[in-house]
Amino acid sequence: MKLYKNYINGKWIESNSKKTFLSLDPSNERPLGKFQQSNEKDVDLAVESAKNAFKEWSETPAPKRGEILFEISRLLKKNKQRLGRLVTTEMGKVLKEGLGDVQEAIDIFEYMAGEGRRLFGNTTPSELKNKFCMTVRKPLGIVSLITPWNFPIAIPAWKLAPALVCGNTIVFKPSSDTPLCAIELVKILENAGIPKGVVNLVTGTGDIVGRRMVTHPEIRAISFTGNKGTGEFIAKNAGIKKVGLELGGKNPIVVMDDANLDLVIDGIVWGAFGTTGQRCTAASRVIVHKKIKKKFENELLKRVRKLRLGNGLKKSTDVGPLINKAAIEKVHKYTEIGKKEGKLLCGGEIIKGKGFFYKPTIFTDVSPKAKIAREEIFGPSLSIISVNNLNEAIDVANDIEYGLSSSIYTENIANAFKFIEKVEAGITYVNSSTIGAEVHLPFGGVKGTGNGTREAGIEGIHEFSETKTIYIDYSGKLQKAQGID
Ligand code: NAD
Repeated sequence: MKLYKNYINGKWIESNSKKTFLSLDPSNERPLGKFQQSNEKDVDLAVESAKNAFKEWSETPAPKRGEILFEISRLLKKNKQRLGRLVTTEMGKVLKEGLGDVQEAIDIFEYMAGEGRRLFGNTTPSELKNKFCMTVRKPLGIVSLITPWNFPIAIPAWKLAPALVCGNTIVFKPSSDTPLCAIELVKILENAGIPKGVVNLVTGTGDIVGRRMVTHPEIRAISFTGNKGTGEFIAKNAGIKKVGLELGGKNPIVVMDDANLDLVIDGIVWGAFGTTGQRCTAASRVIVHKKIKKKFENELLKRVRKLRLGNGLKKSTDVGPLINKAAIEKVHKYTEIGKKEGKLLCGGEIIKGKGFFYKPTIFTDVSPKAKIAREEIFGPSLSIISVNNLNEAIDVANDIEYGLSSSIYTENIANAFKFIEKVEAGITYVNSSTIGAEVHLPFGGVKGTGNGTREAGIEGIHEFSETKTIYIDYSGKLQKAQGID
């Protein structure tokens, strides 16, 4: 079986630990390779390498850094089919979504490459004569990027592209469920001409590698995407490092009695069962108006019963496997809870045999207070809650700890605007599902979903840079602000 290595200081090297772990194809449990089970020493080496590379990289003109990002985007495009198939093989999502994962990376590198010729600061008048004021953006230093498995190319790319164009150097740890995608992405960066030491990849556990990347004194910032518990650990242990947290969701779709039902069903099937429900923005709650509940459920059931499970590389597959055995057990645990909390409409079964397959599951008559309606299941499990009106729908939508994505289906513009205004979420869709972010818009959530940072768009630049304020006094005398004589 092929042995894959860490990438430190421009070289592919083995861990000091001499230990390895396997990554599996979740559709058949076949191992895809052996990967380095790294330790603290490996992280320290990666930090040292990033430190040595920082001066030259941060002094490289941003448009030149942008040129390398354009080349990364071009190489990703050239390798899109190969990488898309790899995403499907290692993570499980169906091929068209695997290709979409790579497309997001192509897009973000292209967008951030252009930022190399912008990285705008501001100019503003001084309160004094003959004085000029401006701001510029500066890199942070060495940054830790810690990523999950559900978008194994896109999420690392969302962090790498802005971090690089801003002039930071990087220690990157992917999830141990998808290390091969990360390695192939880093190879593209290497081939595009990222200088040695600028990007360092260390594979291994969150407990050892991740923890060291959070507590290492030379790290200036951490960008993390993953679950809320891990995010809380990072927030507690990062000290005064700048921390960006993109955490979980329990995203609602509100269906009003005036909604276009065909559109609704398309959106819910895509939002709840696309990526096998393993998106932070997956629709896991439908809040439906009582008047149309019965009809809506019948239509939804007809469609969901037709979904075909299987290996995501097969054209006929609609829903791929879950990521691993623990995920199957977690989803099934919630099914057992849900049977006591609501009425099981379909699914609720583990598929026997090789691979981590779970039947698309729907519960109805679920109380907003039920566990299955409040906790992130992160699988193909949907709860239907019925309400009497829009105000009640908004209250239910907001009555959870998370606040990532949200959606409303209605033909009434007043309903739409009221929802946009009142729903507590970082992202709101009208007449579309809860998923479908575009890279030139900010992405992130409120409440328990994060700590206020946003990724992508111009806000991605803010995450990975800081502001320097500059005053130039050309009056030739000492001028004092605040009117001091
Ligand atoms: P996870 O928190 O278990 O792992 C994420 C990463 O953190 C992995 O690389 C892991 O090894 C590492 N890690 C674990 N413990 C650590 C520690 N103590 N210190 C440092 N690093 C540590 O999450 P996951 O299961 O890989 O991903 C699923 C979660 O990610 C879901 O909750 C999902 O909603 C969330 N997610 C959020 C977004 C978003 O943008 N808001 C996007 C995708 C996924």
